[in-house]
Amino acid sequence: MSVKVAARVRPLSQREKERSCTSCIAMDGPCTLIYDVATQRTRTFTFDYSFWSCNGFEEEDDGLLVPSESYYDDQHKVYDQIGADFFEDAWSGYHSCLMAYGQTGSGKSYSLMGYGPNQGIIPRFSQEIFQKIDETTTQDRWYEVSMSMFEIYNERIQDLLADHKSIPAWGLKVRESKKLGIYIQNLSKHSIVLSEDLLKLIEKGNNNKSIMATYMGQSSSRKHTIITLSLNQFEIIDGTTTEIYSDIKFVKMAGSERPRTSNATANWLREGRNINQSLACLGRIITILADKANGRSTNSIVPYRDSVLTRVLSNAFGGNCKTTMLFTLSPADINYEESLSTLRYANRAKMVQNKPTTNIIMKD
Ligand code: ADP
Repeated sequence: MSVKVAARVRPLSQREKERSCTSCIAMDGPCTLIYDVATQRTRTFTFDYSFWSCNGFEEEDDGLLVPSESYYDDQHKVYDQIGADFFEDAWSGYHSCLMAYGQTGSGKSYSLMGYGPNQGIIPRFSQEIFQKIDETTTQDRWYEVSMSMFEIYNERIQDLLADHKSIPAWGLKVRESKKLGIYIQNLSKHSIVLSEDLLKLIEKGNNNKSIMATYMGQSSSRKHTIITLSLNQFEIIDGTTTEIYSDIKFVKMAGSERPRTSNATANWLREGRNINQSLACLGRIITILADKANGRSTNSIVPYRDSVLTRVLSNAFGGNCKTTMLFTLSPADINYEESLSTLRYANRAKMVQNKPTTNIIMKD
């Protein structure tokens, strides 16, 4: 079962327009094409999906972006194509992970969360899950949903929802046990019953994120943010209780851009190195797993333990999980190098094979 890969290109930003940038990205069906002005060469990458969100839209009075041309992929279309399957898998009891990867400002938050009426994948998923729970709950069938949210910054884990008085909020440790697999010790878990609860918790987490970022002079584009929903479904059939459980992860990766050395402070560079450490480490893991899948390598050691991010996401690459990666791109020619490196990363990711199984427990 391959990792599912999608690319999405956003509109030219105001700044890019002011700098008279042109678009170096094109899409054709599932293919993403990138044009190098210097060599006049076009490279083509084929993914499961390529979403064109660059032009062909209008903005309504309330801020909703709607297609004016049929080729434009709005938030609804993106959810329809990757969010709906992601939901079905999670509901069927597969551990599921959806990740957004790309340079800062390329559309990771927009695709995952969105804003105003342009709701992204997470709020749509949340509405769908609680609607389904509402429709299917009976005396013999019930559900439990809980959520955690943390960030990884400089190789340290910070709980974004901790009650600071009772639980340590940062420097949490990754542990491993036979029963729980990989888990984060002392990470707070919050039970939720309504879609609004989930969105409020994310808002609280994002507020804590900004507070910490301002207070400690950290930049949030350099953090990985991970939201985990635990969905437990119980059903009594002929006196036996069946439990289906799935861990559903939404990951916003830190900006993938390489740190530029001009104007860099020591702190800023250290941050950059650590982010690169986890993204580069994930890149190495993806390469090893892709080579294995192609029969090109028999190297069986996958260095999951080399960074916090890869330890936490080890299941999502090569393990018991259905993984979808969304690679976000700026269309602008000035970002050619970053976009090409994102597309190369995506091209390797699509070769990774996972071994997902549904997680079902029978109890008497
Ligand atoms: P990132 O999370 O990767 O740093 P953002 O999601 O914050 O980037 O996007 C940067 C800017 O581009 C935001 O103003 C956002 O609204 C806009 N944007 C990103 N993707 C899209 C899109 N598909 N359609 C319209 N605007 C977008």
